[in-house]
Amino acid sequence: MTLPISFEFFPTKTPEGTAKLRVTRQQLYAFKPEFCSVTFGAGGSTQEGTFAAVKEILAEGVEAASHFSCIGATKATVREQLVLLQAMGVKRLVALRGDLPSGFGMGGEFHYASDLVAFIRAETGDAFHIEVAAYPEIHPQAKSAEADLQAFAAKVKAGANAAITQYFFNSDAYFRFVDDAYKLGVDVPIVPGIMPITSSTQLMRFSDACGAEIPRWIRLRLQGYGDDIKSIKAFGLDVITDLCDQLNMAGVPGIHFYTMNQADATSEIIRRLKLA
Ligand code: FAD
Repeated sequence: MTLPISFEFFPTKTPEGTAKLRVTRQQLYAFKPEFCSVTFGAGGSTQEGTFAAVKEILAEGVEAASHFSCIGATKATVREQLVLLQAMGVKRLVALRGDLPSGFGMGGEFHYASDLVAFIRAETGDAFHIEVAAYPEIHPQAKSAEADLQAFAAKVKAGANAAITQYFFNSDAYFRFVDDAYKLGVDVPIVPGIMPITSSTQLMRFSDACGAEIPRWIRLRLQGYGDDIKSIKAFGLDVITDLCDQLNMAGVPGIHFYTMNQADATSEIIRRLKLA
């Protein structure tokens, strides 16, 4: 049996970036993804670009998921966007609270992703397959690990069909999270999100911001490579392929790749895993 895989992209800002992303997608379509998703900028700042990329993916004959964040939004604007997405033929959403750009207060009519999931279900019934975010290493703003787990279970109870995790490098955190969630009655697939390692500085920056832990041995090895991109990429492929192998052998329900709009590292990992 093949392992379901999915790819995540972010909306581009220039015509050159858009053209390059088309090429990236075509390269990755060779692996027959279950769906491809497109992120939504903080506070809905990339809505146009997100929806445009989603439209292109659908036109390319691939299932597309639009990420959709609610922080700062009103019920009226979310309702309008849901109508738009349905008219576009979108059937999958990744429903998120999201983060507002720094300097903005919380505001809006939604406080948590669970509010958004409940609202989407109330407004559109089963029109959308809804994914939510999960944090095996605990969301950075959570009051405690237990509170975060309860918040996750509440999102699922509100009507989510599946979850995608924040990326991690320590598979034990994922396995523990899944066990704990299932003990709380969560009964939807929790798909690990995987970030290929292609750059040391970018990875450190992202991980600090989202609370993903880079194990000391990985951090030190990356620091030791300095500007030697070739060695960073070779090391990254080994580490991430091993992680995916471990997850696959444990029977995960799928793997979601944070592609960073690049095809090479993700393709090479999948080729090495012989998933496709
Ligand atoms: P929530 O599930 O609402 O949780 C946010 C925080 O509130 C957590 O600390 C949680 O413990 C706490 N909480 C939840 N419910 C309650 C409650 N009832 N009472 C008290 N505390 C509560 N960001 C983007 O801007 N655009 C994207 O496209 C995007 N895509 C993502 C995709 C994935 C798979 C993941 C894992 C993350 C993504 N993010 C994205 C990042 C995400 O927006 C941030 O992590 C954000 O801070 C939290 O969003 P959430 O939906 O997980 O929030």
